[in-house]
Amino acid sequence: METNPRPCIAVEGLTGCAGELLVILENLDKLLPFVRVASFPFAQSQNDDGPVDIAFVEGSVSQPHDLEKLKRIRAKARWLVAVGNCAVWGCVQGGACAKCKVTDMLEAVYGQHSEIQALESRPLDAYVNVDVKLSGCPIDKTQFLSVTASLLKDHLPYITHKPVCLECKLNENPCVLIEKNLPCLGPVTAAGCGALCPSLGAACYGCWGPSQAPQMDAMATILSEKGYEALEIMNRLKTFGAPEHLFERMNV
Ligand code: SF4
Ligand code: SF4
Repeated sequence: METNPRPCIAVEGLTGCAGELLVILENLDKLLPFVRVASFPFAQSQNDDGPVDIAFVEGSVSQPHDLEKLKRIRAKARWLVAVGNCAVWGCVQGGACAKCKVTDMLEAVYGQHSEIQALESRPLDAYVNVDVKLSGCPIDKTQFLSVTASLLKDHLPYITHKPVCLECKLNENPCVLIEKNLPCLGPVTAAGCGALCPSLGAACYGCWGPSQAPQMDAMATILSEKGYEALEIMNRLKTFGAPEHLFERMNV
């Protein structure tokens, strides 16, 4: 028996693509000297439901059993970390629910008499208190390990919600918006990916969700001035769950 038991973690999935679960699984060897994995149904068959120090939850709440599971996880976890864009913003399924009713979508796909139960897809903080939001599609492994290290020392981690442009500048990238006229959404997208797409010469399409206080009106004006259908391009942000109210001041 361990004299100083290691902190316990749980890694759980709701409605998502398992991208975060894979990132965590790939990096689990770095955590195992410091934690005990109480529950990780994606990766192990023996799981327990007891209290944990940190629960990482991927996916959005899209079905009644997601909501029940999330409440159970919240009740047993000291820190609840939303991992990935689905859990933080609702991602593609949340964006789809903002455009039309979930009952209409169910009927269109499964017919009138479907017994499938679905909720309007929402991020975790629509239902429970979330201690840390770690966005990404999927999350960045370095950011995940650094957040976990902070929580294991009982510190809430600092996560920047500055725009991707900041990381572009740090990488000394040429700006693809200015130099290649590409419709880059980096100015209004949260940093964390290391400016992955612009570093490879491509435009950012907003997969990490909105940055802090994004200037959507200025972004739309720039895209229009460059000859783009600004609304169409800005809709990419909604595809990744960016809430409607952020776009209220747009005037294009
Ligand atoms: S390439 Fe995109 S993310 Fe990079 S500085 Fe330009 S607008 Fe910002
Ligand atoms: S789309 Fe934007 S936020 Fe997503 S990986 Fe590319 S640069 Fe990063």
